[in-house]
Amino acid sequence: MAPTHVLRCCQRGLAWIPVIFIALVVCWSYYAYVVELCLFTIPSILEKVVYLAVFHVSFIMFVWSYWKTIFTRPSTPSKEFCLPKSEKEQYEKEQRPETQQEILKRVATSLPLYTRTGAGAIRYCDRCQVIKPDRCHHCSACDMCVLKMDHHCPWVNNCVGFSNYKFFILFLTYSLVYCLFIAASVLQYFIKFWTSDLPESHAKFHVLFLFFVAAMFCISILSLFTYHLWLVGKNRSTIEAFRAPVFRNGPDKNGFSLGFSKNIAQVFGDQKLYWLLPVFTSQGDGFSFPTRLVTVDPEQPTDSISSFTIGLQTTPLSESQNRLLGNDYHIEEDHKETDILKSGRLHILHHSSKE
Ligand SMILES: [Zn+2]
Ligand SMILES: [Zn+2]
Repeated sequence: MAPTHVLRCCQRGLAWIPVIFIALVVCWSYYAYVVELCLFTIPSILEKVVYLAVFHVSFIMFVWSYWKTIFTRPSTPSKEFCLPKSEKEQYEKEQRPETQQEILKRVATSLPLYTRTGAGAIRYCDRCQVIKPDRCHHCSACDMCVLKMDHHCPWVNNCVGFSNYKFFILFLTYSLVYCLFIAASVLQYFIKFWTSDLPESHAKFHVLFLFFVAAMFCISILSLFTYHLWLVGKNRSTIEAFRAPVFRNGPDKNGFSLGFSKNIAQVFGDQKLYWLLPVFTSQGDGFSFPTRLVTVDPEQPTDSISSFTIGLQTTPLSESQNRLLGNDYHIEEDHKETDILKSGRLHILHHSSKE
């Protein structure tokens, strides 16, 4: 085996350590709650039954959404976003970025693309050799382009993006519910053990730790959870909160926002019945997204515009929350920052909202 192959295998193996750590903590918490607390410590039968019922519901929902977040493969751009054979050969032979951009622009005319690089060029991934759809980014950890990439999360050893963003939000929700329920129901026994109202036993160690661990996880998940709820309400990915998507008429961090309820529906779907279940109900195909302001590209056919506008007012928002996810952030910068666009060719059309 080649040394690089061995190294990559080692990296892949090591990447599972955070997931294994979480899995071990969850297994221990199950044992400590069910056996040590409910079976050995709680005297009342009714209390035992109620606690065990609620515990198992939150446990199953938590494990289900965690599983789906980890094992749902990130969606990647379809083959329409790859350069056709002749254009690809031309692109590879070409040295000048301007001419390369002309080739990309020619291919991009048939694609629903509204975002550009900071310099106004078509976004292209040299690594995957694909034109990046709107909101798609290359993840260096997964070594692939991921649709509506949010961030690469080491705790699930997976990219969080279009295919599993709903599962990720539910994973945060149910881990918070799980930890809150454990902390709240353990509290009175924690106090009794602490004040020696209950006799010394091996359950004491488990119950004391159960409370500490649940409370600690609660606090750390809460900030991430509220941040992501805020992002869903704004229809913004973590990457877009760090760096606003660039449309033909400039960067606009609210470019994909359709209003609060439509933003929620983009991730969770129309039917409220499925909102709390980790089954895929997000709207769209992951390649194209409705935008609130559409700059009609003179090089794009108008029938490819499926987007609709809500309005043109944008309000800058505080970016203070961005620090929260600092260590979860692995994307590669857009390549080819050559500005080849000629200003003055922009036409802004107001499409009326479908409502
Ligand atoms: Zn890529
Ligand atoms: Zn990734």
